[in-house]
Amino acid sequence: MKTFKHHSYFAKPRADQQHFFPYVCFNCRKAFRKPDSDTPRLCPQCRAEMVMLNRKFSAPKMTDVEQWRKVEFLVGCGFRFQSVHEADGSLVRYPANMAEARAFAEKYAHRART
Ligand SMILES: [Zn+2]
Repeated sequence: MKTFKHHSYFAKPRADQQHFFPYVCFNCRKAFRKPDSDTPRLCPQCRAEMVMLNRKFSAPKMTDVEQWRKVEFLVGCGFRFQSVHEADGSLVRYPANMAEARAFAEKYAHRART
């Protein structure tokens, strides 16, 4: 029964959970799900300012330094895992590695958010 979760785990109203976003700290290579905030959120571990990403973001393992470098690169280029679409409306897949990320950032620079 590993997957069993006590009902209290689900007790939060759904509407609340929908306003949670991943906040990431690139120093600690960690993501924390927090409600949106008007003031900067600081990392609970190192107190650095965290970056809010789109809910579609899923954090790499802390030990996967390459993947975190890629994420940091993309965020620096204005891609916070928001949906990126081709001119024909089809959804663009986010790059899987650093080499793809560089090509992606160049190709979709006009879709970046700064
Ligand atoms: Zn940190």
